[in-house]
Amino acid sequence: MRLSIAMITTNTILRPGVHLIEMKAPQLAQAVQPGQFCMVRCCHPQALDPLLRRPFFIHSVERSQGLCTLLVTVRGRGSAWLAQQQIGMHLDLFGPLGRGWQLPATVRNLLLIGEEAQMAALPMLVEVALRREMAVTLLSLSSSADEIYPPGLLPEEVEYHIVTEDLLAEAGEYLTWADAVCCSVSRETLAGLYWRYERMRKHNFAQGVLLQPLACGSGVCLTCSVETRTGQQLVCRDGPIFAARKIIW
Ligand SMILES: Cc1cc2nc3c(=O)[nH]c(=O)nc-3n(C[C@H](O)[C@H](O)[C@H](O)COP(=O)(O)OP(=O)(O)OC[C@H]3O[C@@H](n4cnc5c(N)ncnc54)[C@H](O)[C@@H]3O)c2cc1C
Repeated sequence: MRLSIAMITTNTILRPGVHLIEMKAPQLAQAVQPGQFCMVRCCHPQALDPLLRRPFFIHSVERSQGLCTLLVTVRGRGSAWLAQQQIGMHLDLFGPLGRGWQLPATVRNLLLIGEEAQMAALPMLVEVALRREMAVTLLSLSSSADEIYPPGLLPEEVEYHIVTEDLLAEAGEYLTWADAVCCSVSRETLAGLYWRYERMRKHNFAQGVLLQPLACGSGVCLTCSVETRTGQQLVCRDGPIFAARKIIW
């Protein structure tokens, strides 16, 4: 975990309000694991507003070239500033941070479930799983056809399904096929899957992302504390990925 300065190499608008920002960040690219994030200073170097850094997953990485991408959905001031930054501009980063996805070597069939803005936590995991010769299926939950995660950003080997309604019903047959599932969805969707399918409650089967606004991102301020079945945990340090069985719904 370290501070670094990254240089933006491309900023692609995927659709209004959603940007894929590629940056040269060699130290981050070497160290980051799937599901980890960095805290980005979202203002001019001499400015102080917004004061707090904002958390973003490392969406993908090209370790040999020292490149990382962020998938930024504009929500408020910080993400709007970040989305406006152009090629050649510098970003002040702190990371990688957090505990990412855990992928046991025994997994052969990996199911990923993602939801709109939270899709950013999954593509790096796809790369690692394919390198380990796992079969990977990705279900992407989208409220409308305009908001789907672009299939062109995924390797061809991934089986990619877009679900625009009733994910809970659709997920059943894929969960039967999978021997592990990684869910980057809202807490509500994760809870729905957890209670509907007994398989989701199996030991070492399901993991999910818990997101909430973070202040320090590094386990110091304790403001992102959540109650789990094994006691108080911090979203930024012990997560943001948790075993689904650990979460108190
Ligand atoms: C570990 C982690 C990883 C993240 N990765 C990504 C990513 O890869 N791409 C991405 O686009 N976003 C990601 N986010 C969300 C992103 O950090 C927030 O959208 C951003 O901090 C908002 O800052 P802002 O200044 O734009 O908006 P603000 O003005 O701070 O907030 C705008 C609105 O968004 C709400 N909000 C802020 N953060 C969150 C959150 N985490 N969850 C739900 N609502 C929130 C606020 O309560 C407010 O209503 C991540 C969040 C976390 C905790």
